[in-house]
Amino acid sequence: QRHVCPLARVRPLTCVETRRGDRRVVRGLGDGTVHVSAARHDATFGFSAVFDAGASQEAVFEGSGMRELVELAVGGFACTVFAFGQTGSGKTYTLMGPLVQSEAEPAAPCVLGLMQRSFACLLEQSRAAGLALSASYVEIYNEQVRDLLSPGPPCALPVRWSKSRGFYVENQLSVDFESVEAIAELLLEGAAWRAWAAGHWSQHRALSPTQPHLTVPWAGSRRRRSSAHALNKHSSRSHALLTVHVRSRAVSARPAPGTGLLAGWGRGGGGQGTLCFVDLAGSERVKDTGSAGELCVEANNINRSLLALGHCISVLAKPRGRRPHVPFRDSKLTRLLAHALGGSGVTLMVACVSPSSRCLAETLSTLRYASRARSVTTRP
Ligand code: ADP
Ligand code: MG
Repeated sequence: QRHVCPLARVRPLTCVETRRGDRRVVRGLGDGTVHVSAARHDATFGFSAVFDAGASQEAVFEGSGMRELVELAVGGFACTVFAFGQTGSGKTYTLMGPLVQSEAEPAAPCVLGLMQRSFACLLEQSRAAGLALSASYVEIYNEQVRDLLSPGPPCALPVRWSKSRGFYVENQLSVDFESVEAIAELLLEGAAWRAWAAGHWSQHRALSPTQPHLTVPWAGSRRRRSSAHALNKHSSRSHALLTVHVRSRAVSARPAPGTGLLAGWGRGGGGQGTLCFVDLAGSERVKDTGSAGELCVEANNINRSLLALGHCISVLAKPRGRRPHVPFRDSKLTRLLAHALGGSGVTLMVACVSPSSRCLAETLSTLRYASRARSVTTRP
């Protein structure tokens, strides 16, 4: 049974791309394939499901198996969704919807992303079944894991391994929540903090993080504004992992989800389930972007961890008997995703691509990367 479910989403051309006359060379077709047709390329890639430019956020939520994934998490499974692809390909849009520019104009409900829809779904189930929900939120920046929920300057948390827990982040903060608003607030705080820290550290690298005057500006509005400016840019420089922990108050066997991509899952499980959303940093060609100095270090760390992830996925895709050791220890990212990819977890992998002719090289590499995950199967 497949346990990594690769999906692809082709976003529409943006206004900028349309204005400068980019051609649309990537199309998602109804039969689960993405077709690339350009002057020197003609290729087709297969996925469990494909969403073309016209697909609404709701269609992606319903068609991706996300609703079933939420049910599996409630049933005690470790569930993960990750979005990956080039910067600007629609990862954050898919997970969280468009960036909200001001509090006066919140996003329309129809454009809310997989995360908000999943939270709504979780809370609905929580009301029916009595669940205790808590969340933790960390980012991996330059191979350091930082807690986005704990106040104070960012400090690196160690990733440890134990027989019973597998890889885990030591001392990460976990916060209980009972409403969509509460979790949205947490996310914003975390995102704002991430953006603020990025801007701040780039100006004050010379200062040690332990210096007392470097405290977080807790004034909410200020932090939010800074997030609106810097979030998109910064979010592509780090991997962000939001994990929702689901404990059922009343122990009860959950029925197996019926139809859809993840049908058949949902037996067993029990105990605490998790639902983890991973917004991966975009891959970047250092040569193309001309990154230098610190930016170059960041880009190299991002590329190295994405490479490590790709490597683990291709090893996992080999037939069980001939499979070499899976190198989860090669990066922080693969350690933290080891459970999702190699354990008994269920993972949705959303490859996000731009349809533009100008992004062709990155698009092809994203699609190739994703199609390697097609044959990752579950542990017997
Ligand atoms: P990434 O997180 O991969 O860097 P974003 O999610 O920020 O990319 O998307 C880049 C831009 O494209 C944003 O302005 C976003 O609103 C827009 N966009 C992405 N996907 C879609 C979509 N499916 N429909 C409409 N606009 C989109
Ligand atoms: Mg993003």
